Amino acid sequence: MTRRQFLEGLIGSAAMPAINAETAGAAGAPFRTRGIYFHDGFTCEERHHAPLYWDFAAWQRQIRWLHACGINAIEFATMLEFNRIPSTPMERQKIADRLKILDFARSLGMKFGYLLTNTVLSAVPPEEEPGHQLLNRAVTLCPRQPGNFERTIAVPIYFMETYREADFFEQFAADWGGCACGACGVPEYLRYVRVLADRLKRLNPRATLYANTWCISYWGRDLMPQGWKAVFDREIAGSREVIEALPALPDNVGLGLPCHHLYRPLAFSSYGSKAQTPVFPTEADLQPLRRAQRPLLAWTHFVMDDDAYRPQAWGIVHSETRYLQALLKSLRAARIDQVIGNLYLPMLQLPNTFAFGRLLENPDREPQAILHDFARLIAHRDDAEKLAEALTWMENQSYWERQMPPDGRLPHLPCTLDRAGAQRLAAGIRPHPSPPLPLPLSAQAWLDDFRRSLARMDWAD
Ligand SMILES: [Zn+2]
Repeated sequence: MTRRQFLEGLIGSAAMPAINAETAGAAGAPFRTRGIYFHDGFTCEERHHAPLYWDFAAWQRQIRWLHACGINAIEFATMLEFNRIPSTPMERQKIADRLKILDFARSLGMKFGYLLTNTVLSAVPPEEEPGHQLLNRAVTLCPRQPGNFERTIAVPIYFMETYREADFFEQFAADWGGCACGACGVPEYLRYVRVLADRLKRLNPRATLYANTWCISYWGRDLMPQGWKAVFDREIAGSREVIEALPALPDNVGLGLPCHHLYRPLAFSSYGSKAQTPVFPTEADLQPLRRAQRPLLAWTHFVMDDDAYRPQAWGIVHSETRYLQALLKSLRAARIDQVIGNLYLPMLQLPNTFAFGRLLENPDREPQAILHDFARLIAHRDDAEKLAEALTWMENQSYWERQMPPDGRLPHLPCTLDRAGAQRLAAGIRPHPSPPLPLPLSAQAWLDDFRRSLARMDWAD
């Protein structure tokens, strides 16, 4: 059975939508760029889950799975401790693998992107291998100090030249990067954008460089003592400053927006509620961009997978079909048709990856139907209903939702189980003997991770 046959089977007699640039972004049309960003800087308890250690074969399995889910772009970045000119065989091997991944993704018709940093430099001794980012062996250098701009931009230039064949790059404002000296601000960030855009024009005139305003508030004195609201406020102001500057930047520069104010519990709760959170971007914000015909990308994060800084959510399966749907609907309302979601431990997040792919094709698809379709992909057909029910419990009790202020929470899907009931049901689920899509790990192994995750969700009843 081909992917198309399986997915057509799932959606009944309706034909798979044709995806093209003309229809993308319109109501009922699929998103044009349906991307996944891999964050591979963390280790984890179940070591085989951490992409920090994956070889090329593991990446191939992952990318085949993404492609089968309808994802059409992948993106990598230089992780915290790796921000230097490579000096160990391990770093060089990673780059060699990634160049093979670029070719492999292209062979499947997928795009390849690379996210570049700015002021950060690895502090790992040259003969030692960089690794797990919680070790935090890196520094940021103020680009206003003599010599620092040249020292720091040498690293993103090296990675841009290495991946010069990429379809797109991003210049990531901060986290890591930026400068909190107090004198630096958006103009210093734009200096990196300008130099990298000029360099990219010579290296690969077809490629776009997105100025990604994630944590652009880290360009300026530290606002954290005032709390997250101040940080998110400056993210709006800083993004607007970038939008204003765009027409004067090289014409291969587009805009990447984190869109925190549209979906993220931390943003909603820092403003007191979802209702009190300012909407950004608005149509008026995006008009100059559209007039200048600059491409726009939403770089949304944490909803598909969470990082090691929130231990409760780290290392377990998540199911956020309703929140992914709400996010994509809000992007569609803003007429944004390019989006990149994130994965930290991709083999755990099969339900969210599947749901993301289905919703990127049609954001109106029913969350419950998506969970059932996913269950039929993983479980023996006699047990698929059990898996769908246990997944529904996981979805309703998610840690993402737990962080939401009350008015940000979405209605639960129908489910009569409690945690003990979900665990009992999950205990008896047998794997699909021959899954119709190319899973990146065995259905049995994923079911074991799913059961382990239910046991970890001790905040829920
Ligand atoms: Zn500075």
